[in-house]
Amino acid sequence: MKKEVRKVVIAGNWKMNMTPSAAVEAVKETAKLTDGKTGCEVVLCVPFVDIAPAADAAKGTNVKIGAQNVHFEKKGAFTGEISADMLLEAGAEYVIVGHRERRQYFGETDETVNKRARAALAAGLKVILCLGEVLEQRQAGITDEIVSMQTKLDLSGITAEEMKNVIIAYEPVWAIGTGLTATPEQADEVCGVIRKVIAGLYGGDVAESTVIQYGGSMNDGNADDLLAKVNVDGGLIGGASLVPEKFARIVDAAQK
Ligand code: PEP
Repeated sequence: MKKEVRKVVIAGNWKMNMTPSAAVEAVKETAKLTDGKTGCEVVLCVPFVDIAPAADAAKGTNVKIGAQNVHFEKKGAFTGEISADMLLEAGAEYVIVGHRERRQYFGETDETVNKRARAALAAGLKVILCLGEVLEQRQAGITDEIVSMQTKLDLSGITAEEMKNVIIAYEPVWAIGTGLTATPEQADEVCGVIRKVIAGLYGGDVAESTVIQYGGSMNDGNADDLLAKVNVDGGLIGGASLVPEKFARIVDAAQK
């Protein structure tokens, strides 16, 4: 495995936190604390209404702005939804699709996650595609099968060329927002399984260059060990991304 060919990406997922004015302050503080830390890409995925002011505050800094979801249609009668073109014009470069909270509370399926990812890529956004097993699946010993199936379904129809703009976030559901973290070995093993599936779909070169993050209670205390693993190319960070000092320490861990 050649980790050095991949760029580490540390992405925050603010979820439903931060008003626009709070977002501007947090982006400025994060930018200040991560200034010059060019060893990884730094992304903050913010609520829809925060995108434009956050992108404005991030101009000329190390920080890139992302959204937390996108609809698959270009426009029309889809009340409450946001299109990829809207995100781009507001200043987003990235978008998360398939986050567990979307799958669990908003009825997202592998089919809709795939449609959202394809629409985002077609419009020119970079996609952070989330997948992972629930606790019962891990306990039943079927984690590899579950993440393999999700990887295949969620990437269906996405080309090798488009894979340059796809990041996979392996997020074991039992570790998201729970304080339970996968061990570095568990994270590395499953990220490796996902990489093998990508090799089967697209070939070894695409697999070696695809960024695969770990997400699930990553924080400034465990980031060093997780990021040291050969298959873990960064992190998707919820809770700890809301505190610029903690998030910046994770960015520091990614510089090594
Ligand atoms: C997430 O929201 O993707 C996440 C991993 O959250 P947390 O870091 O809080 O577990």
